[in-house]
Amino acid sequence: MNIIENTGYHKRNRPTADVKNDGLVANWETLQRIFIRPEDEHTRRALVKYMEQILFGLHDFIKIHVGITEEMPLKTLAERFMDSAIQRAPSRKLADVIRSIIEELAPHAVNVASPYFIGHMTSAIPYFMVHLQTIVAALHQNPVKLETSKVVSIQERQVLAKMHRLIFDRDDGFYKRHQQRPQSTLGSFVGDGTLANLTALWVARNRFFKPKGNFAGVEQDGLAAALRAYDLDRVVVLVSRMGHYSLRKAGGLLGIGNKCVVPMPVDAKWRMDTDALKRSLSKFRRQRIGVIAVAGIAGTTETGTIDPLEDLATICRNQGVHFHVDAAWGGPVLLSRRYRSLLSGIENADSVTVDGHKQLYMPMGCGMIYFRDPSAMDAVAYHAAYVNRPGSVDLGIRSLEGSRAATSLILGGALDIMGADGYAVLIDHGIETAKAFAAEIESRPLFEIISPPQLNILTYRLRPEGIQDKDAINRINRTVQQVQREAGRSFVSRTTLADTDGQENTVLRAVVMNPLTHPGILREILDEQEAIYRKHC
Ligand SMILES: *Cc1c(COP(=O)(O)O)cnc(C)c1O
Repeated sequence: MNIIENTGYHKRNRPTADVKNDGLVANWETLQRIFIRPEDEHTRRALVKYMEQILFGLHDFIKIHVGITEEMPLKTLAERFMDSAIQRAPSRKLADVIRSIIEELAPHAVNVASPYFIGHMTSAIPYFMVHLQTIVAALHQNPVKLETSKVVSIQERQVLAKMHRLIFDRDDGFYKRHQQRPQSTLGSFVGDGTLANLTALWVARNRFFKPKGNFAGVEQDGLAAALRAYDLDRVVVLVSRMGHYSLRKAGGLLGIGNKCVVPMPVDAKWRMDTDALKRSLSKFRRQRIGVIAVAGIAGTTETGTIDPLEDLATICRNQGVHFHVDAAWGGPVLLSRRYRSLLSGIENADSVTVDGHKQLYMPMGCGMIYFRDPSAMDAVAYHAAYVNRPGSVDLGIRSLEGSRAATSLILGGALDIMGADGYAVLIDHGIETAKAFAAEIESRPLFEIISPPQLNILTYRLRPEGIQDKDAINRINRTVQQVQREAGRSFVSRTTLADTDGQENTVLRAVVMNPLTHPGILREILDEQEAIYRKHC
């Protein structure tokens, strides 16, 4: 019996949720077979066919709806996923597992690749990403240490250097010296933007509370000892109130407390108010409160706004404070010749977060953190007796995560396939289509723009003439967003943004990153919203 081989696939023409054990058994002979290369032409063909189904069949099934419709209620779905016992005997062949994912699960997943899905930072990815992701699984390298990755660690260092250069643009000599030097760390791959921000603040905290006298440093002695050693009551991180909540998580994890990730006010364009920042910095200085880092945002999650990075860099340099830039969303804009200047000042940051699974259109699971100073990550170095020995090339020495996927193969491949210009086409299209969308919104009396797109994210709302009550307006926008989502033709998200009076307004949020999203589609989405308003509000 061969677990791999495709039987039963043709026999069953109606999908069934429960595949009963077709006499499958787990035995030594079968299990050995799945670890060696397929021995005959028949098995080989079957395996190739499954890849074909994944590449093409999956999309046929998923393209039915956009967003979370109520067509199949979550409660009904949950009833199908109640069995919590691991079956003793094998219950499905690979063919059946793939088929059931494609035919039974995918239709109820979210069609994030639709050009009508403009609500979130998760969108279509190029086909070749699936191939690159498959290679990562097939090679199964672990860049935590050289002994499980060898050249992949070297390749990772090259990709990190390319991204570092895109951000910090140091000279040739710098990269020649540090790119492959084991003691230097230009950056690190992590699972996502959350872990990238955590790593940045981890490094900033440890560099702030460096060893002195009997104090061995905060990493060793802990925060209570650190505060005593530095004669401080507490420490804070300052970020605009548009900051991503991952920074608050980092505050919790690093023991400084998430209340100490202090929100700074924003100006009328949703950018951090630098005067308020300066006032806070001097206030904290007088109060025995240490400032570990200031975080600027290059592309806020809700409005896509870029903080005044040059000003922030200058303020931080003058005050000797670590300057972090959260460019999880906006980082790849640096690849666009037309728009890269929007991020001016980022080259003076101490650390920068970039997400690959957002605007580098990579599969999920690629966060990156970069440091201007190649010795910054020494502050978080760990050694172990069996790996990561001092002086080794092991990338796990300075990395939040241990074992991890060789994501650098995907990014390296994608940068080659796309080129900076290829990515620039996508970035420019997103920004320019978002601007056209904003113009269309402004031309319609029923709508108003709340935050115009600086990048490819904008917020707006329905604002029917004659309705003044704020709660009523909020209700209308909530209803329109929900009804549109449940109808399943298109999807925009919603959030709440505080206006200048501190009043929370419900707004609709559009993220334009799918190259297939064009102004005609955006007009259809607005038409549908108008129709929903007329019918339901
Ligand atoms: C998305 C995002 C994050 C968090 O990234 P994840 O990959 O979702 O963890 C952090 N900051 C900003 C500005 C983001 O847009």
